[in-house]
Amino acid sequence: MIFLYCRRGISLAAILTVLAFPALAAKKKPKETAKAAPPTVTISLDASQTPRKIFHVKLNIPATPGDFVLYYPKWIPGEHGPTGPVQNLTGLKFYGNGQELKWRRDLLDGWTFHVEVPAEVTAVETSLDFVAPAGEEGIYTGGPSATNKMAVLSWNTMLLYPAGWTSDELKYQAALKLPQGWKFGTPLPIDSQSGDNTKFKPVSLTTLIDSPIITGEFLRVVPLANDPPEEMDIAADSAAALDAPQDVLDHYKTLTDQALKLFGAQHFRDYHFLYSLSDHVAHFGLEHHESNDSRLGERAMIDPDLRLLGAGLLTHEYVHSWNGKYRRPFDLATPDYEKPMQTDLLWVYEGLTSYLGDVLSGRSGIRSPAQFNDALANIAATLDHLPGRTWRNLQDTADGVPAMQGAPAQWESWRRGLDYYDEDVLNWLWVDTIIRQQSNGQKSLDDFCRLFHGGQSGPPEVKTYTFDDIVNTLNQVVAYDWRSFWTERLSNHGPGAPLTGIENSGWKLVYDGNRSELTKAAEGAHDSIDASFSIGFSLKKDGTIVDTIEGMPAAKSGIGPGMKVVGVNGRIFSGDVFRDALKATKDSSEPLELLVENTEYYKVHKIDYQGGEKYPHLVRDESKPDMLGEIIKPR
Ligand SMILES: [Zn+2]
Repeated sequence: MIFLYCRRGISLAAILTVLAFPALAAKKKPKETAKAAPPTVTISLDASQTPRKIFHVKLNIPATPGDFVLYYPKWIPGEHGPTGPVQNLTGLKFYGNGQELKWRRDLLDGWTFHVEVPAEVTAVETSLDFVAPAGEEGIYTGGPSATNKMAVLSWNTMLLYPAGWTSDELKYQAALKLPQGWKFGTPLPIDSQSGDNTKFKPVSLTTLIDSPIITGEFLRVVPLANDPPEEMDIAADSAAALDAPQDVLDHYKTLTDQALKLFGAQHFRDYHFLYSLSDHVAHFGLEHHESNDSRLGERAMIDPDLRLLGAGLLTHEYVHSWNGKYRRPFDLATPDYEKPMQTDLLWVYEGLTSYLGDVLSGRSGIRSPAQFNDALANIAATLDHLPGRTWRNLQDTADGVPAMQGAPAQWESWRRGLDYYDEDVLNWLWVDTIIRQQSNGQKSLDDFCRLFHGGQSGPPEVKTYTFDDIVNTLNQVVAYDWRSFWTERLSNHGPGAPLTGIENSGWKLVYDGNRSELTKAAEGAHDSIDASFSIGFSLKKDGTIVDTIEGMPAAKSGIGPGMKVVGVNGRIFSGDVFRDALKATKDSSEPLELLVENTEYYKVHKIDYQGGEKYPHLVRDESKPDMLGEIIKPR
């Protein structure tokens, strides 16, 4: 998963990328039916009113008399938290033999429903509506997902399932009605089709929830590979948005080839990049075994700047088919969607995925080497200005995510964000360079991937792992004290980003007054100015301060997030006036003077700073071989 959050107002995500309280259902054991054959549930989804963002669902759920327990999916794979959007579950009704049945929500768990099923009733007819958010509220599959022209249908948002079975045991047979003339793409096996109605083959609940549907009036299918078949199913809010240059699409063909060379096997029957292009859906990526649900702005494929910003998304989500879905931390592989997930190994699940996704973006040509380096420089620089590491270690950014995700954008450098993504790009690069050094260039992280993610090609399966499995597999590639390495990386409170991987690979992180192509694209796309690495804040073009970095000059002068710069050195604020003044600090001994509005009050802040503009770059260290160039060379 990648949540395209704004780090200090500049979306860098694209740049690359528990304990349970006992649920009542556990106490009130469902009837002892677990020995009988698992039930088959039929589900009929009427998506014909997608433009209104309301979805009607009917389910036939085989039932047992008494207190019949049904769950709405709560812990959604890949979302790393109890994010099932139960607030948008509406119109819930249950019937048995034509009579409406009484129900009550569980007092300890709002995703659990108790239905009173009379003795003679063997199936509960359920009707419900899922109402998708129309604004900006909600995250991931619970966020905005439907427009006038397209939608992503995530089954986890649209169903209930009976307690007492694992999601592998439960069978679901789905039917779908779409708006007239809309096309769709999905990895879900199709049984039959008639007009706007489709019947799917029965699958496990696991597979159903793992197989979203993208649909729209404008849908383009781009074949990528034949055996097994792989394709992009791209839905957009306009036909024009689908008109990507051929070489852009060709890079994704190369991606499938390079991924197979990296991992040595594939764990899907066919694969679908379900790619949404809309300014009116939530922007993120969510992985599945046989697809990914990736969503960017409408012009993300046809605008070069937006293409650059989004370059890391699809590669990240694709890598997850191997790292996250096939190989999964033991405590993220839960039997259903009710049992809480534990997120301590996300530094592998997400961190390694981000690193490999970035590497593949280089090997496939989705990013040029210079673009790859700029992305890495931005990650390194951002993490190198992170005071939050003094109180919170990297491990805690993973451990805490079920509670911490969805935090406001403000105060991120002090709170720390989801650093197990980006900081572990630097750490896995470090690992890659150690393997290459220790083996005199004979081995690399590719060898780890073939051992860990390869094996036999075939349909989706899950092989779980622990911390020890990571250490042991790394030792199979090259003997080293990997346990101490990772323990130190995850637990230290030292200042500064882990830059050793960059340095080992023959490059250095430097700052100068020139914005990279990537920084310019990010500032343009977000209408923002990034002064993070100079005075330590980022602001919108209207002067509103998105975030400040604790300990840096702007914060020291008393400026905080949410305030608004209205004047610069006695002149009315504009982006250009501010940038000129920042640049001029180099030749001035006077402080930079900002007039700042804060909750209806004005104050002049004098910022003691003489460094000029500062933007990050990587430059070659000629004393060492260019290992980074080697890492992103196509195999
Ligand atoms: Zn991810």
